[in-house]
Amino acid sequence: MIVVMKTGATEGQILAVQKRVRELGFKDHLSRGDERTVIGVLGAIHPDLQDEFTELDGVDSVVRISKPFKLASREVKRENTVVNVGTLEIGGGRLVIMAGPCSVDTEENIMETARAVKAAGAHMLRGGAFKPRTSPYDFRGHGEKGLKILANARDQTGLPIVTEVVDARDVDLVIKYADVLQIGSRNMQNFALLDEVGRAAKPVLLKRGMWATVEQWLLAAEYILSHGNGDVILCERGIVSHETGTRFTFDISAIPLVKHLSHLPIFGDPSHATGKWYLVEPVAIAAIGAGADGLIIEVHPDPDHALSDGPQSLTPGNFSRLMERVAAISLAAGKPLHPSLGQE
Ligand code: PEP
Ligand code: MN
Repeated sequence: MIVVMKTGATEGQILAVQKRVRELGFKDHLSRGDERTVIGVLGAIHPDLQDEFTELDGVDSVVRISKPFKLASREVKRENTVVNVGTLEIGGGRLVIMAGPCSVDTEENIMETARAVKAAGAHMLRGGAFKPRTSPYDFRGHGEKGLKILANARDQTGLPIVTEVVDARDVDLVIKYADVLQIGSRNMQNFALLDEVGRAAKPVLLKRGMWATVEQWLLAAEYILSHGNGDVILCERGIVSHETGTRFTFDISAIPLVKHLSHLPIFGDPSHATGKWYLVEPVAIAAIGAGADGLIIEVHPDPDHALSDGPQSLTPGNFSRLMERVAAISLAAGKPLHPSLGQE
């Protein structure tokens, strides 16, 4: 349920509502928008309580939230959430591009990729140091050594880093190096991990589980939000279908649906969705047309020798061509590219 305060309600009236929420054993969540201040009341709430809150001073109305996700819902927060990463504003009306290899391999490759994607206009560097692999015999990442390579690339180029954390026990380590923590598709419902990143003071890129409905995905976001971390970026990366021509099926309609249901920014990942480098550009363009706030794209200087996801990785040259198209399409879609980060 949400308690909508009257325009001009005093701080004392807001505090009194929060106090009552806590006395009743519920969690409160304050959201101050440009138009209105609302207090989310979280827990299993009896309908009779609605009347009690309606009568408190300064309260305009009390509305039950119809969706199972609450803090992720537009019913609680109407304005789009903007996630700040350094000087980048994600979800602020300008398109943000994250690019880099699937997994961190050599220092030389990461440095070459970072420089190339930056020159092409990317805003952040991606790369996995901890890799969730379907087979335990596949390359599972360099761990902390990989994080150090990424941090070095950030120092050299100024590009912030997004990197995956696969285990709740590694969150403290990954936080030391990452600017944005990635939760991968296979961990979207790893609730212990969601709890842990919810307590972290770092933005989270939450990928959609390959089997998950949009509702399950927003409930996964709710785990993170409910611990006080409001900086969640969603990422559509394709879902399982009966199609075998592509790696997954990019659910284009999930983008406007999420925009309708939630205030959180949403990215598109055409690399994992398609699994084929030559399908990445058209799907990237479709994601922009559907209203995505950004893209995350795999790029490797030598895809044939990448340690993971080579077939879907763009060469720097192909990425640069994609960025030229993205720049034009993003203007037409009303969400121009975010200004690039200054040359460091
Ligand atoms: C990745 O980003 O490299 C990755 C493993 O993605 P996903 O979790 O979407 O499969
Ligand atoms: Mn990958």
